[in-house]
Amino acid sequence: MHHRPRLVLAAVLACASCTAAPGDAPGASGGRPPDAPTADRGTRVVFLGTGTPLPDPERSGPSTAVVVGGAAYLFDAGPGVVRRAMAAAARGVSALDSVNLHTAFLTHLHSDHTMGLPDLILTPWVMGRKEPLALYGPPGTAAMAAAILTAWSEDIAHRLDGLQPATPRGYQVNAVEVSAGVAYEDARVKVTAIPVLHGDWQAFAYRIDTADRSIVISGDARPTPALAEACNGCDLLIHEVQTEGSTAKVSPEWQAYRRQYHTTTRELADIARRSRPGLLILYHRANAGCDQVGTDCGTSGSEEEALEEMRRFYDGPVAAAHDLDVF
Ligand SMILES: [Zn+2]
Ligand SMILES: [Zn+2]
Repeated sequence: MHHRPRLVLAAVLACASCTAAPGDAPGASGGRPPDAPTADRGTRVVFLGTGTPLPDPERSGPSTAVVVGGAAYLFDAGPGVVRRAMAAAARGVSALDSVNLHTAFLTHLHSDHTMGLPDLILTPWVMGRKEPLALYGPPGTAAMAAAILTAWSEDIAHRLDGLQPATPRGYQVNAVEVSAGVAYEDARVKVTAIPVLHGDWQAFAYRIDTADRSIVISGDARPTPALAEACNGCDLLIHEVQTEGSTAKVSPEWQAYRRQYHTTTRELADIARRSRPGLLILYHRANAGCDQVGTDCGTSGSEEEALEEMRRFYDGPVAAAHDLDVF
């Protein structure tokens, strides 16, 4: 499997002490936009995890941060989320310091998107977060949060009542189960939930509007016209993808699953043509190596294949995201 160090920022932020990591040559990923915003208060998207269920050490589980006006809004909480957030904070995005993580949205409750949730609930609290986590997601979100608090109830009791100083409310979760339409709004952002289908599971994509940018994040979805309509010329369309090359090589059972649950490059090209985003960003790419069945697929499903297929089917700007890339 092809590996190249990816833990570098795509754009060095407006921070005098920030320096690019070795090897962070512009364009090294083949997909970094030359015009990534660097203004202090401009909206930035920081990819905290771009992976899949595959425990790839180079790609944490899905989690995308939208940072605006010094505040961070997280979309999904895959495994590794808080450590990746701290890596971004160490590179100058102070909004992603763990104690500042207090608002998150879930696209759906698949484990690869939610296994970082206990981390997101508890670690920032242990580090001193004062307010509860505000958590928005599909039906089942509140039950999941409650179950996590139950699972760690002894830990929470010992930290609250033992000698260790602890804030009284920072471990709590204010869970809100969303439906289609505006899910959240404050002075910085408006977040709109867009129903999508992931198999027969109701999931949500989200559109995020700020003063200077519009962003759509697909989560996991099979092709959905509502997503193209929601983007409709948005600045960034962040979308999951699977290559045709790898899908052709998986077993019939996996092909049936992929058709119902995810979006191919050709299908994504159709969505992008209809919605014309300023930049299409690929993430949560179905694995190289054709998944768990162990089929020998060579490099099928690689990032290179995904970009090659996208460019074949779609003539607009396309990038592939890596963990800690900033757009
Ligand atoms: Zn999923
Ligand atoms: Zn997923």
